Amino acid sequence: MSDTTIEGLFASANTEASAIEAPGQPPMSYGALSKLVSVTTRQLNAFGIGRNDPVAIVLPNGPEMATAFVAIASAATSAPLNPAYQADEFDFYLTDLKARALVVQKGVDTPAREIVKKHGIMLIELVPDETSPAGSFTLQLGDGVTATEMTAESGSAGVDDVALVLHTSGTTSRPKIVPLSHRNVCASAISVSKTLELDSNDRCLNIMPLFHIHGLIAAVLSSLSAGACVSCTPGFNALKFFSWMDEVKPSWYTAVPTMHQTILARAPRNAESLKRANLRFVRSSSAALPPQVLESLEETFGCRVVEAYGMTEAAHQMACNPLPPQARKPGTVGIAAGPEVSIMNDAGDLLSVGEVGEIVIRGDNVTAGYQNNDEANATAFTNGWFRTGDQGTLDDEGYLTITGRLKEIINRGGEKISPREVDEVLLDHPDIAQVVTFAVPHDKLGEDVAAAVVLIDNSETSERAIRDFAGTRLADFKVPRKVIILDEIPKGATGKMQRIGLAKKLGLVK
Ligand code: AMP
Repeated sequence: MSDTTIEGLFASANTEASAIEAPGQPPMSYGALSKLVSVTTRQLNAFGIGRNDPVAIVLPNGPEMATAFVAIASAATSAPLNPAYQADEFDFYLTDLKARALVVQKGVDTPAREIVKKHGIMLIELVPDETSPAGSFTLQLGDGVTATEMTAESGSAGVDDVALVLHTSGTTSRPKIVPLSHRNVCASAISVSKTLELDSNDRCLNIMPLFHIHGLIAAVLSSLSAGACVSCTPGFNALKFFSWMDEVKPSWYTAVPTMHQTILARAPRNAESLKRANLRFVRSSSAALPPQVLESLEETFGCRVVEAYGMTEAAHQMACNPLPPQARKPGTVGIAAGPEVSIMNDAGDLLSVGEVGEIVIRGDNVTAGYQNNDEANATAFTNGWFRTGDQGTLDDEGYLTITGRLKEIINRGGEKISPREVDEVLLDHPDIAQVVTFAVPHDKLGEDVAAAVVLIDNSETSERAIRDFAGTRLADFKVPRKVIILDEIPKGATGKMQRIGLAKKLGLVK
């Protein structure tokens, strides 16, 4: 059983060793990181923020986002949000979270600033210290903002405190809140570190966004749990990837398949850099890695590529292909690597090797349940197992193959979209009578967002106008790439609108 907090996760690391790095900046040591955690805890407590108080974080990707997550989660509950959200989205997330405070970077504009003003949420500004080691910062109250009275306990968070809350896209119209305790996130970080055999000599190049579970756990916390170092870039940039490889000299990186494919496309132009690269392995997760991409990556980097299966509700890692000498099986997501993994039928019976059913998990890294959502919890848990909404099968060696999806999310290159959320926004368009948002296959992203709409009688509007409208209300990755205007939306055999299979029905599948 994992019984550590994030602070405890790296308490025994060498205080002199590098914990957080960033291209072009001096590293932050483990000693300095511990100090930053203590100082931030005192600062938050002085502002009236304490244990389990939700603190939203909207920061550019980079070392301060990593250290702010670690420090804020150690004193309160961290709630990182995608900086690309539009005002309406921030309004939903900040109120849904019942955020007590929002942390933004001083001098960086975001629509979230206006939203906190509207709701009377405390604005805290993070001031990066660019002359100090990577990730150094201080916190200050926003202009005219005053500290509130402390209603929570002060001091360091405990093992069962909520370290992190993230939203997941679901079958419901709006995303659900997933609370993850220190026990959950640390158990997952330790599993990742064990699977990848991380030690203090490792250096991870982080290109993943740090408002998503993949980067937070598999890159940042797994490295910290091993006394290793993580170099935090401003986010994935295909043009800079190889120069970062040269500068940072990582021993590994983790990414979604779309990023790997983009990296491969630029590899021939970076042959010299590739000769100098010395990766121990490459990790892929969050969406299916086509076996051809796995093979090209192994050829290009001359190292093992491991595909892992992760999910927010599991604090990320559930299964992973192992490192040598064990076999990795392309097309599978490997063996259970953290929680127990089983296959279940609709009736709640566990199935045998080779049978196809819903992938279910249980263990220390699995959330105790969605926040304030009895209905979702009643269907998500069966006999103590959490239903992932993914369909799969286990072979006789315990390797898991994902065969399909039972839930309605769209997986756009690892970014998850709830089709109902897009439906709701499009239904607000004055010319739209009916809408169904669905996934269309995409070469690089795996899936992309499309919407079929029926217009109100005699109204005229264009695909472009509908997309522009969606763009004012939704972050860019949720805006349908394709909008099809139809006289009628095709129904399934039961007369219900069916998202799954709609792309095929409409002739959008090659
Ligand atoms: P998220 O909560 O954003 O991490 O998304 C979790 C979902 O991503 C899972 O339930 C799967 O549907 C999908 N997913 C994660 N890893 C993989 C993988 N290696 N292959 C296929 N789908 C994956």
